[in-house]
Amino acid sequence: MTKLLIATNNTHKIEEFQEILADLPYTLTSPKLEGLSLDPEETGTTFEANAIIKAEAFAQASGLLTLADDSGLEVDALDGAPGIYSARYGDTAKDDHAGRYQLLLQQLTDLPREQRTARFRCVIALATPEKVVGTVDGAVEGFIALEPKGSGGFGYDPVFFVPELNKMMAELTATQKHAISHRGRAGKALIPLLNSFLLPDKNS
Ligand code: IMP
Repeated sequence: MTKLLIATNNTHKIEEFQEILADLPYTLTSPKLEGLSLDPEETGTTFEANAIIKAEAFAQASGLLTLADDSGLEVDALDGAPGIYSARYGDTAKDDHAGRYQLLLQQLTDLPREQRTARFRCVIALATPEKVVGTVDGAVEGFIALEPKGSGGFGYDPVFFVPELNKMMAELTATQKHAISHRGRAGKALIPLLNSFLLPDKNS
């Protein structure tokens, strides 16, 4: 089976992509499994630009068909922050779990529900060592809750309320999260692009 490199050092994202793309006839692999130690600088100003930077860098380093995502949380009351800086929000010493979402909750203190609108966005870029094949995106709309709840998922999931399921993202099962999440939706949009690579002689 053709190998597909999931170009991220974030183990949560790797797990999610393995679940989202489980039914595809690709052998999914990771930078760790390929012995690759690479952390390209995300110098882009959009999710798309950063996804392309990562996909190109890992595809060239590995020689493999590669997907990379850039994702994050946009909070309307903060003019779209943390956005592309979601993984680096606030004090760099804060971890990607409680530290960052606690900062977010502090910044939204006393803000009423109707002003706490937010969305997760994800752009996935697919690249070969020679070129960027394309990009796809996905988003999920919700609200930033008043306090964290739930233990599933990662990152900002405990403070992101999903109105269509009346639950926090961190309260969803993996299957429920992938059905509505930004990454799940972008992953679904990626399938036609990936299928085009199963045609003979396009990739080895
Ligand atoms: P990236 O690795 O530069 O794309 O950073 C993505 C960051 O956005 C993550 O480190 C999280 O802080 C946040 N993020 C992205 N997707 C999710 C998600 O599904 N749940 C919670 N936080 C997420």
